[in-house]
Amino acid sequence: MDKTSRRFGSFEVLLLKDGVFEAFSEVLTHTAGAEARHAALAAWGKPSFGIDVNCFALRGPDGLMLVDAGTGTAWGEAYGHARTALVAAGLSAGEVGRVLITHLHGDHALGLFDGEEPHFPQAEIWVPATDLAFFTDQAARATLPKARQGGFDIAERLQRLYGERVRLIGPGEILPGIELQALPGHTHGHSGYLIHGAQESLMLWGDALHLPELQAADPEIGLEYDLDGAMAARTRRSVLAQAAREGWVVSGGHIRGFYRVRALADGFEVVAA
Ligand SMILES: [Zn+2]
Repeated sequence: MDKTSRRFGSFEVLLLKDGVFEAFSEVLTHTAGAEARHAALAAWGKPSFGIDVNCFALRGPDGLMLVDAGTGTAWGEAYGHARTALVAAGLSAGEVGRVLITHLHGDHALGLFDGEEPHFPQAEIWVPATDLAFFTDQAARATLPKARQGGFDIAERLQRLYGERVRLIGPGEILPGIELQALPGHTHGHSGYLIHGAQESLMLWGDALHLPELQAADPEIGLEYDLDGAMAARTRRSVLAQAAREGWVVSGGHIRGFYRVRALADGFEVVAA
C-alpha cells in the first residue's frame, strides 16, 4: 500500500494526513475550573495549538476501507490532503467499500461528500447509531449555538446522499478483528475502533484526545469542541488507562503518527511506537 503503512492483525493501516487545524489556545477547558485552566494555558505558553487532522486507510481480507474521511474540499486548500495521500498510496475512492465513522464532525465526515454527490461511489458508511440519533434530533439541535450545529447538517446530507448505504453500528465486534468501543463525551456517540492483532492491537480513538501530550499528562484538559466535557474527561482517562494496560498502539483523528501509552504516578505519557 505504502512504505509507511503498518500491519495489525489482518489489516494494513495507513495514516492519511488531511491538514493541520490552528486553534486558539482559548478553546482549552479544564474540568477543575478557571484556575486549573489558567495554569494549563500558562504552562503551554503559546497563543494557539496546531492540531493534525487525520483519517486512516485499512486494507484487509475484504478490500479497502477508511476510518473517517477527512474534510474533502469543504475547509479549503489547507485541508483535504487525505484524498491525495490515498491516491499517492496507489488507492482510489472508487475502491473504498466501507467507511467507519468515529463521529459526525466536519473534520471526520465532510470528506464523504463532493457537494451534493457521494465521494465514495461504492462505499457503505458505518456510523455509530448513538451519534446519528443525536445529530438527527432537532430538539437537540435547538440547544446548541449555530457554530456547533455542523453535525446536524452532516447527518442530514449523509442520509440524503448515501441513503440505504448508511449502516448503524454499536459497541462490540463489527467485523472480524475490529471492535467498536463507545468513547462518549466529545460527542454522545463518539466511538473508537480497536483493530486486534496477535502481536499488537491498534486503537484508533478518534477525538478522545486532541492534544496528546497535554491531555495524556492531564486528562482533565479538554477543548470547547467536546459536547460533554466532564464525560469526555472520564472517557479520556479510561481509554488511556486501558491502552497502557493492554499495551495497545494508539492513533486517532488528531495525533501525529502511532504511539503507546505509559501510565505514570500521576497521569500518562504518550511515546512514539
Ligand atoms: Zn476532530
